[in-house]
Order: sequence, then structure tokens, then C-alpha cells
Amino acid sequence: MNKKASNTRVFCIGRNYADHARELSNPVPDRPVIFMKPASSLVWPGRDVYFPAHGEDLQHEVELVVEIGKDGRAETVEDAKSYIRSFSIGVDLTLRDVQKELKARRLPWEIAKAFDQSALIGDLVRYEASNDLADVSFSCSVNGELRQTGYTKDMIFSVEQLLIAISGVWELQEGDIVYTGTPSGVGSLRIGDRLSVHCNPVGEFTWNIVAWGTP
Ligand code: ZN
Repeated sequence: MNKKASNTRVFCIGRNYADHARELSNPVPDRPVIFMKPASSLVWPGRDVYFPAHGEDLQHEVELVVEIGKDGRAETVEDAKSYIRSFSIGVDLTLRDVQKELKARRLPWEIAKAFDQSALIGDLVRYEASNDLADVSFSCSVNGELRQTGYTKDMIFSVEQLLIAISGVWELQEGDIVYTGTPSGVGSLRIGDRLSVHCNPVGEFTWNIVAWGTP
């Protein structure tokens, strides 16, 4: 995909692993929780990530990410696979203190979830028919200490089911990016932290968290 594209749509899924829903005391959903981030949220490897100025508890959520390869609406599981062009591993950065306040006041989540540089994404790997996206293990560590491990078989809604759900609301577009939800173990980040994500078929990617205004 064109890494400079400014119109990339970023879809995210909340509460797609039961253990993570429980750790935040959220009910396990009966349909996917979908939200979006702007293109300015995306950060490719090798760039610093600044700690946002409007919150204090910046948390990592490591997630499998897929890229859409064509326009249209996915209707069946088999059909949904045909929309996946590539996949990677990424981090849905969340200002948890801000999100808690928004939730308590029943307000939208954008300033907690969709701020600039809130969607870290590793290099994309081409999706082949032999890739089973329900059999992918991934992890996240901070300063070399393991924080989160995930296994996509534990998803409540499979990648294909997520694409069908999104298609019911938005026609998929080539270049769309979809974050598929995080397992338990989300935790806080500080300025100076080195955040790494790892996924066997994809690789390992690292970002440094720096003070606001540095990049
Ligand atoms: Zn997330």
C-alpha cells in the first residue's frame, strides 16, 4: 500500500478476546464492537511515537492487523478471505484514563483511541491461501519484558466474521486496515519505553515512546 496515502481508513475491533473484555470489566459482546481511527493515526516501524499531551495512562494493545485488497462487501467466510491482501502485527494505543472518563460520561471514544500516532503497524506480509489467520501467535514486550501474548484462535469473532460485520456498514475499500482486537495483558507505557511486537510469520517491530513534540 501507499504509505503516504492520507485517506487510508483504519477500522478497529474492541473486546474480541473474552479474557481482555473481562480484565476491563466489559461484557463479552454478541456482535463485533467496531470503531475507526484516521489515517494520521498510523505509524510504520522506525518512527518515534510521542506520548500524547492530553492523557496520562497510555496503554498498549497488540493486535493482528489485516489489509484489504479490493473494493466490495464480504458476505461469506470464503468470500471474506478473498478481500485480505496482507497482514501484520500492530498496536492499538489507548489513553485508558481518558477512555474511562468518556465511558463514564457515555461519550464517544475518539480522543482516547483515535489520536495522531495511535495505530502502530508493522510491515505488511502478503496473505496466501496457506495462511491460517485463526492460527497466529503474537506478543508484545516493553523494554524486553513480555507483556502480552495472543493466539488468534481465542478471538470471539474470526477475521472473516469481522470483515463480514464491517461490510454490513461500510463497503470495504482497497487499502483499508483492520485491527482485530487485543488479548489480555494490556499495560501502561512511559516516555523512554521501547515497545516491541512479535509475530512469527510477520517479524518483529519496535517503536520508541518519546516526549511530546519530539518528532
Ligand atoms: Zn484494541
